[in-house]
Amino acid sequence: MVKKNDQVIINIEDIGTNGEGIGKFEGYTLFVNNTIIGDKALVKVMKAGKTYGYARLVELIEPSDFRVKPRCPIADKCGGCQIMHMDYAKQLEYKEDKVRSSLERIGGFTDIPMEPICGMEEPYYYRNKSQYPVGRNKEGKVIIGFYAGRTHSIIDTEHCYIGAQVNTPIIEFMRTFIEDYNIEPYNEEKHTGLLRHILIRVGYKTGEVMVCLVINGKDIPHKKELIEGLVKIPGMKSVCLNINTSKSNVILGDRIIGLWGEPYITDYIGSIKYRISPLSFFQVNPIQTEKLYNIALDYADLDGDELVWDLYCGIGTISLFLAQKAKKVYGVEIIPQAIEDARTNAKLNAIENVEFYVGAAEDVLPQKHKEDNVDADVIVVDPPRKGCDQSLLDTILSIAPEKIVYVSCDPATLARDLKYLCESKYEIKRVRPVDQFGHSVHVETVCLLCRIKDKKK
Ligand code: SAH
Repeated sequence: MVKKNDQVIINIEDIGTNGEGIGKFEGYTLFVNNTIIGDKALVKVMKAGKTYGYARLVELIEPSDFRVKPRCPIADKCGGCQIMHMDYAKQLEYKEDKVRSSLERIGGFTDIPMEPICGMEEPYYYRNKSQYPVGRNKEGKVIIGFYAGRTHSIIDTEHCYIGAQVNTPIIEFMRTFIEDYNIEPYNEEKHTGLLRHILIRVGYKTGEVMVCLVINGKDIPHKKELIEGLVKIPGMKSVCLNINTSKSNVILGDRIIGLWGEPYITDYIGSIKYRISPLSFFQVNPIQTEKLYNIALDYADLDGDELVWDLYCGIGTISLFLAQKAKKVYGVEIIPQAIEDARTNAKLNAIENVEFYVGAAEDVLPQKHKEDNVDADVIVVDPPRKGCDQSLLDTILSIAPEKIVYVSCDPATLARDLKYLCESKYEIKRVRPVDQFGHSVHVETVCLLCRIKDKKK
C-alpha cells in the first residue's frame, strides 16, 4: 500500500476513461496523467484512496515503444486529444482490445467473432464541427481555443489538428475582428461580456462552411465588417448568431438569427443528403460515420422485404441509410427537434418508406408492438453510453426479430446488454469496432446478433 507523496516505479498497463495511464504498485492501482501503455515511470502519489490512487509523472524511466511526439504542441494540455502521444496503430489495437475484453469480462463471451477494427486512413482534420470558447487570459489578452481537460480554463489554440483545416483562417480572422472592434469576450464567472463561443460546421462532401457566433446578448456590433471578412473564407455559406444569455455552461441557446446566407449547410453521408443547422445533432466524423453505417447495413443484410426498427435514431441518419434497402423503416428518438430534422431529411431525399416517432424507445416499441401489432425483421439500436433500458431488451426478446444490429459507443454497456440478449434467444455473429474519434479513448462498435432458430418463443 502506498501513501501520499510516496515515489514509486510502475509499469503502465492500461488506459483510463480520460486517457490517463493505469499501473499497479504491489497490487495497488494508480492513475497517472501523461503516461501510456508500455511506459515504465517514476511517479509521485498525490492522492491515495482505499483501493486506488492518483499519481503524477516524475520521470519516464523507460518510455513506451508506442510513444510518439504529438503533432499538436498543446495535446498534453487540451482536453480534446487524450492519447495523441500514442502511435495511431497502437491506439487502434488498444480500442480493439477494449471491446474484446469487455465482451469477455462483462459479457462472459468466449470465441467472439471479432473483425479487425475499422481505423481512419488519415486520423487528422476529421471533425466537421468545432466549438471554440472565447475569453481573456490573466494578462487580459483575448484567447480562443479549447478547454483544458476537465476544466473550463481556455487553452489558446491557433491550429487544431483534428478540426477542419478551414477553422484556422476563420479563427485568425475572428481574433482580429474581436480586437479591432473591441468585442468583449464572455466572462463565465461574472456572466459579463458578449462573445461566448465560435461554432464552425463544415460539410465534408460539399465543402460548405457555417460560422455561428454564440452571444450573451441580442446582437453583435460591426456586422458588416464581420460578414465582409467571413465571406472571403472559401466555402462560406452561412453566418449566424445563436443567443445564449443563460448562466449555465450549456454552449448553445435555442434562438438562431441568420446574418448572411441560409441558417444551415448541407452535407452527404453516402448518397443521402442532410440539412444541418447550428443546433442539429450530426455525427462529427463523416468519413468514419459512412463506414460505420455501411457496416450496420451490411450486418442487417436487407433484401427489400424487411420491416426495420431504428431505435435511438437521432436525426434519422441510420434510418434513411437502411431505408434504401428495406421495405419500411420505423425510427424512434426521444428529442422532438431531432425527429423534425429526421422528417425534413426524409423529404429532402424523397424517401417515403420511413416513419418517425418521438418518444422513449422503451415506451414506443412495446406500444406499437402490442397495440398496432407492428412486427420487426431487424431491430437496430444505437443508444447513448448508458445502453438500452432493460424493459426495451425484454420487448425486443418478445418480438424476437431475426436480427439485431447493436451500434454502441460504450463497450461496457454493450457487453452487459448482449449478455442479457444472448442468455435466451440470440448469439453474436459479427463484431466490428470502428474508430470515430482518433486520439481520444472512445470507440464505437457494431455488432450483429442472430436469433437462434429453435429458441423462438
Ligand atoms: N443513431 C443516431 C444517433 C445516436 S446517439 C446517429 O447515428 O446519428 C443516441 C440517441 O439516442 C440520441 O439522439 C439521444 O437523444 C437518443 N435517446 C436517448 N435516450 C433515448 C431513449 N430512451 N429512447 C429513444 N432515444 C433516446
